[in-house]
Amino acid sequence: MHASSAVDVDLALVGGGGAASLVLAALDRHGVSGLRVAVVDPVHKRGQDRTWAFWGLPGDDLDPLLSASWSQVDVVTPAGRRVLSLDPLRYAMLRSAPVYDRAAEAERRLDAVRISAPAGELRDDGERVVVRDPDGRDLVRAGWVLDSRPRRPKRPGRTSWLQHFRGWWLAADRPTFDPQRAVLMDFRTPQPQRGVSFGYVLPVDDRFALVEYTEFGPTLLDDAGYDAALRGYADLLGLDLSALRVREVEDGVIPMTDGPFESRPSPRVVRLGTAGGATRPSTGFTFSAMLRQADQVARALAAGRPPVPAPAYPGRHLWMDAVALRALDRGHVGGVEFFERLFDRNPPERVLRFLDGVTSPAEDLAVMRSSPLLPMTGAVLGDAAGRLRARLRR
Ligand SMILES: Cc1cc2nc3c(=O)[nH]c(=O)nc-3n(C[C@H](O)[C@H](O)[C@H](O)COP(=O)(O)OP(=O)(O)OC[C@H]3O[C@@H](n4cnc5c(N)ncnc54)[C@H](O)[C@@H]3O)c2cc1C
Repeated sequence: MHASSAVDVDLALVGGGGAASLVLAALDRHGVSGLRVAVVDPVHKRGQDRTWAFWGLPGDDLDPLLSASWSQVDVVTPAGRRVLSLDPLRYAMLRSAPVYDRAAEAERRLDAVRISAPAGELRDDGERVVVRDPDGRDLVRAGWVLDSRPRRPKRPGRTSWLQHFRGWWLAADRPTFDPQRAVLMDFRTPQPQRGVSFGYVLPVDDRFALVEYTEFGPTLLDDAGYDAALRGYADLLGLDLSALRVREVEDGVIPMTDGPFESRPSPRVVRLGTAGGATRPSTGFTFSAMLRQADQVARALAAGRPPVPAPAYPGRHLWMDAVALRALDRGHVGGVEFFERLFDRNPPERVLRFLDGVTSPAEDLAVMRSSPLLPMTGAVLGDAAGRLRARLRR
């Protein structure tokens, strides 16, 4: 609906993308009822606009929505191929369409109000929040707002990289892919001057797979650059592109920065998703943190508590990521070497749990010990000096 006058609700979701869809699904999962909900987004998200790959334990209510999952994945470097057994975790692929459908179903059950307009300012008086449109007209009054509109960090980071990528959904007429074998990261791609690149392969079955080229670095490629990189990666895989059809193209840019994302800008506004700091700075992975926070929000609402999740990542992980980003950016350590050592010297489950932000301090120490010590020490000192300079400037 288009709102002509402000509606009163208990909870307003401002931004209805990934993070909000997972909150809606979680409200359903926890059987929340009687909550007045509004969703404010000029776009009603539907269809396939992204593919989420993530790891976790099997057996939650998203399982029926998965396109595929793998209990082992390959990490490939010029030195060789490692097969990581992920048990008890699994790597999973979830396309956006079933997630948006699931969210729409939850909206219907909650009888949520949909406001198809952009939100502007949020006025929080500590009791209620007024959501205005960009012209200052009131759209919604809400007890709590979960805001996932894309935004920049509060301050620019000392290192600001991007994870940017293009994927081709490739369809074949005959068996071409091994559905049991997903490639998590394949570092045999030509490495950029600054940053790190890798390809990956996520097969849905033996005739259909997502083949993607990704870079972590400060600058984007142009259209032709992504296509050339993907053709090069397909060659490395031994794929004959003339025998394959590109069914869909998936592009994306995700921030990788140590700039701070504010998760609680005012008493009754909570930021979620990338805007709330759910994107892991050293990898761009976001989904697991969004899923975790959505579940915490729904649990809290079901128990009549404020919908405030725990921070997406512990502070020590954000510090470690800032150091890693700095070491990579300033060339203290090569990207391939960095990831190679991480997977070489740690059990896969520890690496994946670390990347999800759920490892213990003892496990974090083990992860740190596996990084090249001398260059990382340089980056730690550089990071500390950078922090001090920023604090003095402020
Ligand atoms: C193509 C792609 C693939 C990705 N793959 C992965 C992956 O495999 N694994 C992983 O962990 N992460 C992945 N990510 C990163 C992350 O998981 C996604 O970006 C995720 O969608 C972030 O959710 P979000 O809610 O923060 O943002 P979005 O999903 O982008 O939602 C933001 C919403 O805000 C709305 N909005 C914007 N302006 C306004 C306004 N003024 N008022 C109201 N609403 C507004 C938008 O219309 C949008 O619906 C991927 C990202 C992309 C782009």
